[in-house]
Amino acid sequence: MTNTQDNFQELQWLLCPKCGKKTRLKLREDTELKNFPLYCPKCKEMTLVDVKNFDILKQTDLNESQYFSNGRKKNSPKKIETAEKN
Ligand SMILES: [Zn+2]
Repeated sequence: MTNTQDNFQELQWLLCPKCGKKTRLKLREDTELKNFPLYCPKCKEMTLVDVKNFDILKQTDLNESQYFSNGRKKNSPKKIETAEKN
């Protein structure tokens, strides 16, 4: 096949593995995701997914509060300044 748009890949919405609704993410067919924290605006939940060829190969529930409590992770240590390199 000779296509004038060889590099063009149609984008498809990545669907939520839980509710099947569209997420805010569009993927190419050759997009591969590994341990991607997929957020569904419908469920308001986050799922860790592996995606290949539009297929969700793996999904793991994430504890949302771990990621979104006050907008940052808990127990985030203060910057250690002794280990800076120049
Ligand atoms: Zn959902």
